[in-house]
Amino acid sequence: MEECLIYFRKAVHEPLSVPPWSEWWAENAWLVERAFSLVDFVRLRHRRLLGARQILQRRGELPQGFEPPSFTQTGSCESCGERCERVAPEGDFARCPVCRQGTL
Ligand SMILES: [Zn+2]
Repeated sequence: MEECLIYFRKAVHEPLSVPPWSEWWAENAWLVERAFSLVDFVRLRHRRLLGARQILQRRGELPQGFEPPSFTQTGSCESCGERCERVAPEGDFARCPVCRQGTL
């Protein structure tokens, strides 16, 4: 479980220091399934990085009102942990390709 939590913490605080969620999940879903309860496994499968944040909050590692770094600054979606596209080559980061929550 600790291995997963280490990834969650990095993905929440410094998303660019770790692979996007989908890549990590593809390699580690089996580990999550073994280390976490079924409820948490399903939570993580569907809510992705948001689910990871909720687990860290439940463990008291993050304050309840924690605001993750915005995708506009990091280029990584704070909901699902995927990389965001830029509007223009040098422009701001825009919507996330997965959950489309990143509209400016
Ligand atoms: Zn997203």
